[in-house]
Amino acid sequence: MARGRHPEASCAADTSEPAGRDWVQRVRRALLNWYRRCGRDLPWRQSRDPYSVWVSEVMLQQTQVKTMIPYFERWMQRFPNVRALAAASEHDVVLAWEGLGYYSRARALRQAARRLAREHPAELPRDVAELQRLPGIGAYTAGAIASIAHGRPVPAVDGNVSRVLCRLQAWTDDPTRAPTKGQVWKLAGRLVGRGRAAEINQSLMDLGAIVCTPRGPSCSSCPVRRDCRAAGLGVVGDIPRPATRPAYARRHEVAGLVRRRGRWLVVQRPLDEQRWAGLWVFPHAEVRAHEGTGAALRRALGAAGLTGRLGPELMRLGYQVTRFRTTLEVHVCTGCSGRATPVKATAVAWKRSEELEQLAMPAAHRRIASRLPGLDASPGETAGRTGCTKSLGKACCAARG
Ligand code: SF4
Repeated sequence: MARGRHPEASCAADTSEPAGRDWVQRVRRALLNWYRRCGRDLPWRQSRDPYSVWVSEVMLQQTQVKTMIPYFERWMQRFPNVRALAAASEHDVVLAWEGLGYYSRARALRQAARRLAREHPAELPRDVAELQRLPGIGAYTAGAIASIAHGRPVPAVDGNVSRVLCRLQAWTDDPTRAPTKGQVWKLAGRLVGRGRAAEINQSLMDLGAIVCTPRGPSCSSCPVRRDCRAAGLGVVGDIPRPATRPAYARRHEVAGLVRRRGRWLVVQRPLDEQRWAGLWVFPHAEVRAHEGTGAALRRALGAAGLTGRLGPELMRLGYQVTRFRTTLEVHVCTGCSGRATPVKATAVAWKRSEELEQLAMPAAHRRIASRLPGLDASPGETAGRTGCTKSLGKACCAARG
């Protein structure tokens, strides 16, 4: 879909009537009654502040409500409005986002705030097309901000809303593709078109999150049960149609620990990297097919201007991001030499373990960092360039900073 174009507009030529006027009225009434009694009490719903709505909606993309609430509350204390966010450094913004993943969302929020601070009186536009011109704001987020914060009669269709509407109409085709996508947005538009768009949109979001869930929906307690075609036809389990899951790919990575004078080497990932751009990591590389772990580690060290060898394995982590199931081996590096310099990195730094808390790191590397204080305190810690600790298995870290 072209940016700046709301999906509802794309089905303007579609004259099919998905539901009659009476149906729309009944469903609206049922949703509003249910929302008044059962709507979720969420921190960003305390006010209709456009900035709060915006931040919450961006955080909720790819993140569950329970997980994101503490992030949202900390964020609002740290960056309470557009101006505060625009004035913040990228480092501080990414650090505040650490743990939520998909860091491009945090960067887009800051970029949009900076643009707003320059071009507007630091306020979010009311119009969905204008909202969609801002970095990181798509059709759903624009609809949510415009309806919830500004009371505009526009729909906001996310995965939850789409599932509810498809079930209400017993639409079995893929709602992420035309023409079903257009029909879904059009139906959502009809539901909000008679006013109270904020409540209608949020009731649909909540219904999808707590009643009309992907698996095992609670149809018996659903406020729109009598108007639900899928429930009437007994096809609820077929909607949405089970997606063909993409095959998982396995990924093997290595990270190296290099220590000098009680400080650990970390490198900042290049800003143009797709993954972990701008975040700090321990020297790290993917182990390519037909490549040994040692060779991959040498590449990782080379990106920081060092040479060195694979030492003892300290830990092994498993994690999954998108379709990748990753095994990360963490090794102590031995025989390191050279001057640490950002050859294929934005920056390199030597940090004490407690100082690492000030750097934005991806979750896997934060887990490694959390283990380092134990190593700092281990017997055998010596001053000097070639100091080793017993627990590091005589890992020599002779690299010069
Ligand atoms: Fe969803 Fe069941 Fe309600 Fe229909 S009746 S909207 S399938 S929870």
